Amino acid sequence: MFEQFDLDSELLAAVKNNGYKKPTSIQELVIPEAMKGKDILASAPTGTGKTASFLLPIAQHLLDYPRTSPGFPRVLILTPTRELAIQIGEDSKKLTELTKIKTGVITGGVNYGSHSEILTSTTDILVATPGRLLEYIENEQFDAREIEILVLDEADRMLDMGFSESINRIAAEARWRKQTMLFSATLQSGGVSRFSREVLTDPVFLESTPSRKEKAKIHQWLHIADNFEHKLQLLYNILKQEGVTRAVVFANKRETVQTLSGKLYAEELPCVWLEGKMQQDKRNTAIERLKNGQVNILVATDVAARGLDIDDISHVINFDMPRVVDVYIHRIGRTGRAGNKGTALSLVEAHDMLVIAKIERFQDERFPRRIIEGLRPKNKESRVAIKKPKIKRTTSQKKAKAKKQAKKSAKKSKK
Ligand code: AMP
Repeated sequence: MFEQFDLDSELLAAVKNNGYKKPTSIQELVIPEAMKGKDILASAPTGTGKTASFLLPIAQHLLDYPRTSPGFPRVLILTPTRELAIQIGEDSKKLTELTKIKTGVITGGVNYGSHSEILTSTTDILVATPGRLLEYIENEQFDAREIEILVLDEADRMLDMGFSESINRIAAEARWRKQTMLFSATLQSGGVSRFSREVLTDPVFLESTPSRKEKAKIHQWLHIADNFEHKLQLLYNILKQEGVTRAVVFANKRETVQTLSGKLYAEELPCVWLEGKMQQDKRNTAIERLKNGQVNILVATDVAARGLDIDDISHVINFDMPRVVDVYIHRIGRTGRAGNKGTALSLVEAHDMLVIAKIERFQDERFPRRIIEGLRPKNKESRVAIKKPKIKRTTSQKKAKAKKQAKKSAKKSKK
């Protein structure tokens, strides 16, 4: 129950209006610590409710210590992408709708002019992407010295995208802050832990172990494919299946996104696509068409799809396998959100088996291999990839197995 947290009634009512019945595991962990004002280092993939886990304590802080004079923002939330910034901005507005707290969003990709209101009027919570915000700081249009709480969301992505220098400079500007919270999908990467030592002071380390209900929502499996053409045929087949109500298809390159989009249209599978260099208004139109159900398929690269929060994605399809495990985890986190079931399936060629093995080790689970009749793989290499690997046994395991077998045959001969 959200009532267990020391939140004002306006916040509890907003939580209810948002349809949140009980806190998710990350919220259970983060909210009490954040409300004590501690620095936080949390591992929380998207889709686990992490946004509310920092927004609610932030809103409570602003209610507890109301502003005495107009001025620059008191809370700064940095995110890797504009979509994520917009999403967090919307969440913030919803959760504070019954209070006087004001939220603003500053991102790249829009005219300078459109931020003037945020820069000149009093905003409490500012959500921003690092690049554009730093420009405003350098032009002395923005003063980060009034920041009391700094949140770095999806810190691993921000570092991957080369923002570490910008964030460090912004963090240095916001040096009078009282609290810093860092969220990252994984904390394993050396980059994140090094970085966290620079920006956090004596943080509490919080790692959510999503409840079975939260975790077991994504069904994952593989289709082994011979080549690009075979993957295409599998993709058409899958997208035409019942139950695929909203799908995101991931490709590794922009060119593949374009090729796939064209081919899907030719197969009467209308889709929208996102690619990194698209103009903002085109991106918005594409996202809107998907959100309002005009089309059910989105084709995208990882960069283009970063931070997108679209509910009810029934299927995530890896047309190309990502090269590293945490990108896979991020991709599949787009389905199975907020208690819904999700499916993540991967079209895999022989050369992808290495990364598959890594993901299987990470998840401690072997992916089921599925076959679509009429689309069986033909190459020898692909057929090998379908087979269950032979388990190598140690000498003691071999001995134990031989003993077990001897016992079994002795029992049989007695009978
Ligand atoms: P996030 O991980 O913050 O992107 O949240 C993922 C989705 O879960 C968003 O659509 C949230 O609105 C939703 N959500 C967050 N907290 C809860 C909750 N306690 N109960 C149900 N849904 C939630």
